Amino acid sequence: MEQYTYYRPTQVTIDLEAIRNNVRNLKKYGIVSGGVIAVVKADGYGHGDVEVAAAALEAGAVMVSVATPDEAIRLRSKGINGDILVMGPSPITFAKKAAELGITLMVAEVGWLRQVLDESAEFEKQLKIHVKIDSGMGRIGLRDAGALQALISLVECSDQFVLDGIFTHFSCADEDRPYRTEEQFKLFMELVRMLPEKPRLVHASNSAATLLYPQFQLDAVRFGIGLYGIAPSEFVEGQLSFRLEKAMSIESELAFVKKVEANTAISYGGTYETKAAEWIGTIPIGYADGLKRGLRGQEVLIGGERMPIIGTICMDQCMVKLPREMSIGEKVVLIGRQGEEEIRLEEWAKRLDTIPYEIAVSIGRRIPRIYTGKERQHT
Ligand SMILES: *Cc1c(COP(=O)(O)O)cnc(C)c1O
Repeated sequence: MEQYTYYRPTQVTIDLEAIRNNVRNLKKYGIVSGGVIAVVKADGYGHGDVEVAAAALEAGAVMVSVATPDEAIRLRSKGINGDILVMGPSPITFAKKAAELGITLMVAEVGWLRQVLDESAEFEKQLKIHVKIDSGMGRIGLRDAGALQALISLVECSDQFVLDGIFTHFSCADEDRPYRTEEQFKLFMELVRMLPEKPRLVHASNSAATLLYPQFQLDAVRFGIGLYGIAPSEFVEGQLSFRLEKAMSIESELAFVKKVEANTAISYGGTYETKAAEWIGTIPIGYADGLKRGLRGQEVLIGGERMPIIGTICMDQCMVKLPREMSIGEKVVLIGRQGEEEIRLEEWAKRLDTIPYEIAVSIGRRIPRIYTGKERQHT
């Protein structure tokens, strides 16, 4: 298929070599000895689900995981042939399709399995399941021995299901209070020990736990935000003994440059007024692209220098105060490196009083994703 040419110079570049290195480095630096489950939910945290899944599998990930049935179907239909786990709830009606597509489903209660047996005709292929234990997250999952026992009994007397895994999720692993995570792990393992036979994959750790608690890695870790080169929190970043490699950068160009006199109002509401004669540049990126209005004042890089976004950020464009005359077409880096300087997603997150996860997933799909470091061609 012919590559579509984008005419707007704003683009997101995803370095797939960084994704692969973030998987490989877990082994290389002795952090993970078992498997890596690459978490590619929410379109690969905004990086592109199919491309990231393929790169992670190339680097040796044992499985990829998503949040929803539709995300799993999409990966399969785009040629991702490895194991796929749906970590969030699936409707009963999806069970048969999941079995056909070889998609592994999370099960959080025995009633779900019973209903699948009641409402579906015999599957041609068995449905692989991972049982979810709620060890303290308080979201979904079995919470006690009785519930787990009931589920095991049902799985044992049906040949429709394969108990391929059991897992839990930590709520505070990215914070400086290990007792929470330790408690959750202990509770989880007590339940795991009840199983008559250990399933293939017992897993608990998200990125934060992977990086901070190697003793909890079990058979596999679910590596999400770290896969993209972003630390789960400042606390975790401070503890790292190696560098996560950033995969995403966002670039554009100056689309318009002008010199204005003192007291010139810029953008909606005229809330920015020049104090003296100023050079103002316009960049074709706005809040519809994920450059939220709250990012007014955030700096961008041009020619390796930082300069601030001024005035109200528009839906499709924003203005920046230039230190001197600059040319139309000059490269602008919104996220990434230029010369000695770097602007990270984390900086945006801080300004918006949120976490980098939320920034990554809200980079608009209108901006094309350009992939570098491809190992082979995926369509
Ligand atoms: C999103 C998610 C992960 C990945 O978390 P990160 O902090 O991004 O590593 C792991 N497990 C479950 C159940 C999740 O929902």
